[in-house]
Amino acid sequence: MAPRVVVVGLASDFGCQVQMTNIEDHLLDVLGVIDLVYWQLASSGHMPEEYDVAIVEGAVTTEEHLRVLEHVRQTAAAVIAIGSCAVTGGIPALASRGDLEARYGCVYGEDGAAVACGRISPMPVHAVIDVDYRVPGCPIDTDEFVRVLSRALLGLADRISDEPLCAACKMKENVCFYDRSEVCLGPVTRSGCGARCVCLGRPCTGCRGLSPEANIESLVELLEERGVSRAELERRISLYNAFEEEGSPR
Ligand code: SF4
Ligand code: SF4
Repeated sequence: MAPRVVVVGLASDFGCQVQMTNIEDHLLDVLGVIDLVYWQLASSGHMPEEYDVAIVEGAVTTEEHLRVLEHVRQTAAAVIAIGSCAVTGGIPALASRGDLEARYGCVYGEDGAAVACGRISPMPVHAVIDVDYRVPGCPIDTDEFVRVLSRALLGLADRISDEPLCAACKMKENVCFYDRSEVCLGPVTRSGCGARCVCLGRPCTGCRGLSPEANIESLVELLEERGVSRAELERRISLYNAFEEEGSPR
């Protein structure tokens, strides 16, 4: 029997699920070996009780998300977190800093606290349940997604890259942004995207999350020599890494 797969969306803009619809080159290969029993973006039915692989997009922001994830972990043999929101907390986790209650009023007006009931401080999926595989990025890269899904279906271990982005960027022979006196988060960002943004002429904003091998202090020194403060670096890093991770290089 083909492995039964569900795709679940938590708090996100569904961009990574949309990105999944762009896997034309591999679509038939993928659909040929799985039984896609539920896809939140494309299904009108309810999530089934039984499945083998759960693909989870989005950050955890409500008590309902906690219940969904509990079910996912109890049921699925393999859980794949896709996209920055699910892997690091991403943009939603910006709200994990400061007073969450105060934000309700900013967004929903006077009755904000009532409208927003059941909401919790945003966090990545791994802060709630064990995650077996990760596809970081905002949005995900479709080729990487297919590779990781294949590893999950074959029962192979997660093989996410830990090293910072700069080595891959150098191999693409890009002119470094630091040679142009511009800030780039490549030195502290997890590689695996092939330095996509730099190759397209833009500095890395860190969407794949902090590399566990990141040397933040070295980057602070480099930036302070260029008149950029630690606070400014922290502000930039926080875009995709606002959730306070235990064991983070920060
Ligand atoms: S452009 Fe960015 S990613 Fe590339 S080498 Fe320089 S700092 Fe690293
Ligand atoms: S270069 Fe940086 S921001 Fe761009 S895709 Fe890669 S990790 Fe994300």
